[in-house]
Amino acid sequence: MVIYNLLCKKKHNFEGWFPSFEEYQKQAEQNLISCPTCGTTKVEKVPHACAVHVKKEQPAPPAKTASRTPPAPPSPAEFKEMLLKVHHYVKQNFEDVGPRFADEARQIHRGKAEERPIHGTATAGEAAELADEGVPHVVLPKPDLDS
Ligand SMILES: [Zn+2]
Repeated sequence: MVIYNLLCKKKHNFEGWFPSFEEYQKQAEQNLISCPTCGTTKVEKVPHACAVHVKKEQPAPPAKTASRTPPAPPSPAEFKEMLLKVHHYVKQNFEDVGPRFADEARQIHRGKAEERPIHGTATAGEAAELADEGVPHVVLPKPDLDS
């Protein structure tokens, strides 16, 4: 799951959740992504996002016990609060590797660096490369602290 900060041509900022970068690209090419505020499909991705390396030991919840009804999506206010909590948690517990994130995540994935939680910044291209290489990571939108 990747979350992208998106910006429409009228400068409305919103988040889009996609199963993968490829899926985002597909939807963008087919003009399937529309701004929730004005409805335009002239939408582009804000390039930088915080990315988090997730430890491999963390087990994914087993699909069999998953409820069939997905939980209701959070409201924008709830989502922002969640996001701020995540960013706070990440800052407290994860090592900040800044723009070296993609390299570090790759080294950890290959066992060449110490397995540890890291966070940093990655460009959309770097995040796509990591996804291609099967390096586990999560892309988080930056919380909008101004509004
Ligand atoms: Zn808009």
